[in-house]
Amino acid sequence: MSVIDLRSDTVTRPTDAMRRAMAEAEVGDDVFKEDPSVNRLQERAAEMLGKEAGLLMASGTMSNLVAILAHCRRGDEIVMGDQAHIFWNESGGASGLAGVQIRLVPNGPQGEIDPRDLAEAIRPRGNIHTPPTTLVCLENTHNRCSGGALTPQDTRRVADVAHAAGVRVHLDGARLFNAAVALEVPARELVREVDDVSFCLSKALSCPVGSVLCGSQEFIDEALRWRKMVGGGMRQAGVLAAAGLVALDSMVDRLAEDHANARKLAQGLANIDGLSLGPDRIQTNIVIFDIDESVGTAGDLIGALSREDVLVSSPGKHSIRMVTHRHVDGTDIDEALGRTSKVVGGLRAARKGQ
Ligand SMILES: *Cc1c(COP(=O)(O)O)cnc(C)c1O
Repeated sequence: MSVIDLRSDTVTRPTDAMRRAMAEAEVGDDVFKEDPSVNRLQERAAEMLGKEAGLLMASGTMSNLVAILAHCRRGDEIVMGDQAHIFWNESGGASGLAGVQIRLVPNGPQGEIDPRDLAEAIRPRGNIHTPPTTLVCLENTHNRCSGGALTPQDTRRVADVAHAAGVRVHLDGARLFNAAVALEVPARELVREVDDVSFCLSKALSCPVGSVLCGSQEFIDEALRWRKMVGGGMRQAGVLAAAGLVALDSMVDRLAEDHANARKLAQGLANIDGLSLGPDRIQTNIVIFDIDESVGTAGDLIGALSREDVLVSSPGKHSIRMVTHRHVDGTDIDEALGRTSKVVGGLRAARKGQ
């Protein structure tokens, strides 16, 4: 029985073309800005996203942290959705290292933020009792909201409220290209209204390492110093950038396959008694579903599935996340559905028998 790994699209391994490009990459010392491959990747990413400049980072977490450090001062307040990756999954770096406090507003089912909630949350200026609001963080696609994609209009409505109040907007676009492919909108249209954006090379785009932060030249100049401070000044990083260039050239369009597989997976899961999907419309490559108490907890299901060689993750005590990616095809989806159905049936029967 083969292992079907649906824990994350981060498990994707570099392609043969990436490994060749990495082996042959032209490199230099990037701390002296002398790595031609890194410079090419940064220019290419910035150009694709319609921003002035880009900066290669070690990870998406580093991109988000450096963006917050570059935009904010200690004691500032930043606003984001209550399901934001920055809030849930980045080890508290925004408060622990950047010294900002986070104010949460509700995320809608696709990860959207209601501009009225944002307007309420932004602090009035000039009051010594309250922290100044200096940044809003959006996420596209939205990880904990089943990979929901924000449209250019969703983003513009939020950015307009922020900018009118003198607040900047950072987009955590770890899976930005999934959103672009799903909505059939160029990625640059999705980020037109935000001040800066980070995206990951190491997720569905299959690179071994990396994320790129893009924004104005002034912002990137500032981010460069913070990246150095947090230990992100890499030397012959062209070996990594070379894979990133291959990814941007050849790995974006194929994301549509992952999305089709996720839809197929979601349809199959919806038919299994005891499982219920959040949004019925799966837009990209992340499927999150809830488990009925008659089946058990997320821990029970994860354990039982792993004994059947289906690996999944859990965003909550009663929910499971499955992510499609380059190493799972339509046959694997059928197989995963068959094994899941069997396991869920087994868990229910065991509960009844107790
Ligand atoms: C994965 C992810 C990140 C962080 O990326 P790492 O490279 O794992 O640090 C940030 N935001 C979102 C939405 C993510 O899914």
